Amino acid sequence: MINNGKFGKYGGIFVPELLIPALEELEKAFLKYKDDKEFNQELDYYLKEFAGRPTALYYARNLSEKLGCKIYLKREDMLHTGAHKINNTIGQGLLAKYMGKTRLIAETGAGQHGIATAVVGSLLGIPVEVYMGSNDVERQKLNVLRMELSGAKVLPVDAGSKTLKDAINDAFRDWTSSVENTHYLIGTTMGPHPYPTMVKHFQSVIGREARAEILEKEGELPDAVIACVGGGSNSIGIFSGFVDDAAVELIGVEGGGDGIKTPRTGATLCKGTEGILHGSFSFVLQNNDGQISEAHSVSAGLDYPGVGPEHAYLHSSGRANYVAVTDKEALRGFELLSRYEGIIPALESSHAVAYAEKYAKMPENKGKTIVVNLSGRGDKDMFLVASEMGVEV
Ligand SMILES: *Cc1c(COP(=O)(O)O)cnc(C)c1O
Repeated sequence: MINNGKFGKYGGIFVPELLIPALEELEKAFLKYKDDKEFNQELDYYLKEFAGRPTALYYARNLSEKLGCKIYLKREDMLHTGAHKINNTIGQGLLAKYMGKTRLIAETGAGQHGIATAVVGSLLGIPVEVYMGSNDVERQKLNVLRMELSGAKVLPVDAGSKTLKDAINDAFRDWTSSVENTHYLIGTTMGPHPYPTMVKHFQSVIGREARAEILEKEGELPDAVIACVGGGSNSIGIFSGFVDDAAVELIGVEGGGDGIKTPRTGATLCKGTEGILHGSFSFVLQNNDGQISEAHSVSAGLDYPGVGPEHAYLHSSGRANYVAVTDKEALRGFELLSRYEGIIPALESSHAVAYAEKYAKMPENKGKTIVVNLSGRGDKDMFLVASEMGVEV
């Protein structure tokens, strides 16, 4: 059997027997190529020339002065397709190519991961098919068009709630019978081993850069690193650069929705309980019978009833703290960064910004240095924000 793929007691492999050979083949290839010189040269080339790495660690002077802390923004919003997701899709796409796979499949909720996979399919000349809940297809027509323009085929899923979790189920089902020629490109640090480890590997570039950049600018490590948590990939990516530095506080911000005391929330670690979802043991939002609940967040990227198993581990060990920020507070974060820095953040990232403000305002945190991972830009969210603000567009 494969390496255990565990983070403490979390993670592992909870899938039908039929998928085990596919996961073993993937793990073997990942372990082989992650240290391969040619693979890494090609990966670095695309990260730089196609995606736009390295990203800046930008000192947000106006916001810092307003809040009485030093606030730095890791500008993942500047990457091609507008978010950190491209780090992972380039990595896994290239791995699929080295493995000789001739087809990529992916799941997508609002469409961001679908787009990041579709463009990598174009880049590497590999056909892409994207599973997407039919409700999401209806709600996100522009993103469907974006994927199709890049040559991807969007496959609407009519099962269950017709959203992300149903799309993931169908993608796994497809992979069971297509593994010979197909790679399933999962978009975040969830799923069975080796996905959480592999996606973290490809996102750890964020933490490596951020650590070097803050040391260059400040001459010392930050007091805190703050990132939003959906499935957990941008946060684990930046945390990985600081997790061995015990003095650096790591804070993951979940989508609180209407608030964690209400049923409309996406705060899996703050509110959920241990359970198995999509192939791994972690925290999930579920009812007393173990039925998975619908998650809710104003930001599509935080609207998932599970969370990556390594976050469950960092939560239970106390190495990282997880907090929830409501939809309303996130909208305030969105406006705050737009107004003071001229940077329109993704609604997901706005959760991290909103918590950074709360953190900075706590008397014991005055003057601290804070790194906020700005996981993506907000252009994709303008229609939603306009409607929340009551502005007609
Ligand atoms: C998808 C997305 C997220 C949430 O995914 P993680 O895997 O938790 O990082 C966060 N921010 C942006 C901008 C996203 O597009």
